[in-house]
Amino acid sequence: MVKQSIITHSDQCLHHAQEYYKQTFTWPTFEFTLRGRAAAQMCSKRKLIHAWQHRFRVNLPMAQANQFEFVQQIVPHEIAHLVVASIWGQSPGIKPHGKQWQAVMVGCFERPAILYHNFSVPKQSAQRSFEYQCGCRTMQLSTTRHNRAQAGTVYQCPACRQNLRLKAHLVCD
Ligand SMILES: [Zn+2]
Ligand SMILES: [Zn+2]
Repeated sequence: MVKQSIITHSDQCLHHAQEYYKQTFTWPTFEFTLRGRAAAQMCSKRKLIHAWQHRFRVNLPMAQANQFEFVQQIVPHEIAHLVVASIWGQSPGIKPHGKQWQAVMVGCFERPAILYHNFSVPKQSAQRSFEYQCGCRTMQLSTTRHNRAQAGTVYQCPACRQNLRLKAHLVCD
């Protein structure tokens, strides 16, 4: 289900970008094998002068656990990388989340240019934990403690005495 939503929404974003920029883009291939902290990645390679190959790599467990946000935010984030690579190439002046990428997100897709996600990072199995940080370290909170923290319970680091706050990760890491 979520795979199909990601593919369908990518398709809509690309059609929209083609109209907006009056340019034809190469559709990506999808891989659902990405794991770890990154939500997704777009790997773009230029084969010939104008022939691009794009691989849209998706962290499937993360997408399944956050379907709505994933489709609404992560898909345009990654498609914007494809658009930037296709229009501006990968010259040294183009930063991954620079002004071109922001222009695609805000101008073309009309979405906020969000770089970070705070989805939980799935561990090996079904077990989930959330990364929190204080002034001195990063630590894992269980789902139960995370839910309490989100509901207002304040957890403090015994060492630096700062309140723990949810750590955000770069979407593409
Ligand atoms: Zn601390
Ligand atoms: Zn990115």
